[in-house]
Amino acid sequence: MDAADGLMARVEGYRQALVEAQRTLVGIPALGPTNGGQGELAKARVVQGWLEELGLDIQRVDAPDPRVEDGIRPNLVATAPGGDDAARWVLSHLDVVPPGPREEWDSDPWTLRVEGERLYGRGTLDDHAGLLASLFGLRAVLEEGLTPAGRAGLVVVSDEETGSAYGLEHVLETRPDLFTPRDLIVVPDGGDPEGLMIEVAEKSILWLRVEVTGRQVHGSTPDKGVNALYAAARMMVATREMYQRFSLQDPLYHPPMSTFEPTKKEAGVPNVNTIPGRDVFYLDCRVLPQIRLEEVEAALNERFSQIAREQGAQVRISRVQYLPAPPPTPPQAPVVTALARAIQKVRGRPAYPGGVGGGTVAACFRQRGLPAAVWSTWPDTPHVPNEYCELGALVNDTKVFALFFAGL
Ligand SMILES: [Zn+2]
Repeated sequence: MDAADGLMARVEGYRQALVEAQRTLVGIPALGPTNGGQGELAKARVVQGWLEELGLDIQRVDAPDPRVEDGIRPNLVATAPGGDDAARWVLSHLDVVPPGPREEWDSDPWTLRVEGERLYGRGTLDDHAGLLASLFGLRAVLEEGLTPAGRAGLVVVSDEETGSAYGLEHVLETRPDLFTPRDLIVVPDGGDPEGLMIEVAEKSILWLRVEVTGRQVHGSTPDKGVNALYAAARMMVATREMYQRFSLQDPLYHPPMSTFEPTKKEAGVPNVNTIPGRDVFYLDCRVLPQIRLEEVEAALNERFSQIAREQGAQVRISRVQYLPAPPPTPPQAPVVTALARAIQKVRGRPAYPGGVGGGTVAACFRQRGLPAAVWSTWPDTPHVPNEYCELGALVNDTKVFALFFAGL
């Protein structure tokens, strides 16, 4: 049996331990204050205990936050010494999103429910799966008596779900010395159900608020007013024209084109018999990095203004979110090839680089010139009721991280 087979066999022995670790984590709700919670400290203490058991060197890079009782948002940086290769990091997060209405869950979201191969509970996938796969992956390397290829690091942060200011952003701002552009950085916080896509790029994000003003009158006399809802509806329909106007496709991304979608709608008049004088809706645009966001804004502005003029209404567009895409991680970057090699060994199928619609925490790394890849086996269950993680996938991902740290 070679070293890779030995590592994978060792990980097989962690199945029950992985389930028990999930049970522990699910039982500690870690909601940030923006989501009405008291933060991540209780969960961080448990995880720190596990990291200490592995004999890792642990540094705390906590962010002060007076909104939580303990006053801090914990961030853990745990490392093991390794060989001469570049350092290998895996970043995961402690916080989870609120479970939403209890009646939409088949069982208590804060109690692990095991049904066959599926582990149900809030956070089991996002991001306990990434946290545990990386932690148990490194554990396998150390218990096999192997030396990691380069320094091996586990970064476990707070505040991923509500902006990262108290999490990864804080770590990168206060400890810029931790990472170098030579390092291999993986973020297991997204991916595809087969665990084959290595996400290296993302689109720019543009969220716009569109406020249409007309003139409110009685429902029986539309001729005396200006129907803002009708004007807004025309604008929403016209938004689809942007798919032709910005029709560039790039096969690296899924989907390959930029997207322009009306999403949120503020409540208008509460009664049927009033012609509304004001309407507010929002657009979520995910734009290929080759296209400048200003061009998209200008095109929407021009088209909406034209419609407003035709309807005798006014329109005001304002930015809600404006995030030009960070430079992509090159598809040939060492982090991608190292991951792809490990995935091929575990899954027996080739992995491929890809781009997504944007908004991953890896952007914090990429904006600083640190090539990060997002990868994990990821069914479409994060942020929904009955979130689950497949035990088999978790075991496989653990094997991939074991091979990744070992450099096999
Ligand atoms: Zn996440």
